[in-house]
Order: sequence, then structure tokens, then C-alpha cells
Amino acid sequence: MTDETLHPGTPPKDCALCPRLSAYRTEQVARHSGWWNAPVPPLGDASAWLAIVGLAPGLKGANRTGKPFHGDEAGKMLFGTLAELGLATETPDGWDAPGLFITNAVACAPPGNLPETAEKHNCRSYLAEQLAALPALKVVVALGETAHQAAIKAVGGKLPKYRFGHGVAHKLPSGVVLVDSYHCSRLNTNTGLLTPDMFKAALGSTLAYRA
Ligand code: URA
Repeated sequence: MTDETLHPGTPPKDCALCPRLSAYRTEQVARHSGWWNAPVPPLGDASAWLAIVGLAPGLKGANRTGKPFHGDEAGKMLFGTLAELGLATETPDGWDAPGLFITNAVACAPPGNLPETAEKHNCRSYLAEQLAALPALKVVVALGETAHQAAIKAVGGKLPKYRFGHGVAHKLPSGVVLVDSYHCSRLNTNTGLLTPDMFKAALGSTLAYRA
């Protein structure tokens, strides 16, 4: 993607809404000058029927490569499972997933993978703009509770009406279906909270809404 074709809601590379995250980015530039070290733009295009919302770029994954879920174990699990479902193919540059839009609740890598409440809030309008610019959107998959809350708030839903639960599908007021999944982080896969079969079942359940 070039600057001229950025999807609406893509944060500027010098976004300064979150002082802690900006400072963390600056630290990474000093340590790893060849890394992306900026808000990670969404991947996909305006014709997507399925959007997948993660938590935030992994420091050594998406923050390094500049593409959501590229370059770490969580991404291998996500794209590997999408490939098993026929929704993604590996290319020399990464992954190709036609019809899919992949983004994060928070666009910058947070220290310890833990965004603060204000940071989640600051990034919400970017996510809202990104999702609003997908006219063919049928389903959003939220990877984890932070993504669940961000997705609901981004489309103007009321949180208490929709409780997070792995594999649960919620019909949102806009007509879009929200499917929850535990996040495919190593923490969740190593502890067995999320197994490959559970993840495939949650992602595969979206196919029913594609038509
Ligand atoms: N990479 C991302 O882009 N997001 C996540 O939530 C995890 C890894």
C-alpha cells in the first residue's frame, strides 16, 4: 500500500495521541532503526467481508514488519488457521487474504503487550473509521476481550449487551455479526486456553455469514 491508497482511519505515522506509546516508539527507533516502529496500518481493502481485530502490534512482530500479525507466533497461528480454512495464502512478502481486513484495537506496540485504558480510548476513532469504510463488511472477529470491547464501541454498540465469550456470535445493531475468540497469543496457546481446534472453529464459524 502506498500513502495515496491508505485505508480511511489509518493512523498517521507520527501519531502523538498517546505519549507513553510515542515515547516507546522513539526508544525502539534508537534500538532497532530498521524496524517499522510506528502505528501499524490495517491490512486489506475496502471490499472486505470479514474484519479481524487484534489487540496491538507485537513489539518484535508487527512493530518490526509494519504489517498486522506478520513476524510473530500469534501471526503464524492466525494466518496458518486462515490458510487451513482457505482464507489466506502465503506469498514471498507475507500473507495474502483476499476479502479480509486485519487490524488492531491499538495501532502501536505497547510495553509488555498491555495498552492502557486511555490508549485504547485514543485509538478507537481510528478503528471506527476503518470499519465504517468497509461497505461489504459482514463479520468482525474480535481476538480477545479488548478487541471485543473496541469493536463494539467502534460500531456504536453498548457494551453490557454483549458479553465476551469464545466462539460466541453477537448480532450488532448495524447488522454486522461480531464473533469472539480468545486471542491467539502464545500465552493463550501455551496454557491451552486456546487450542488449534478451538481457534479454527471460531474463525470457521464466520463462513456462514459470508454470502
Ligand atoms: N500482532 C498484531 O498485529 N496484533 C496482535 O494482537 C498480536 C500480534
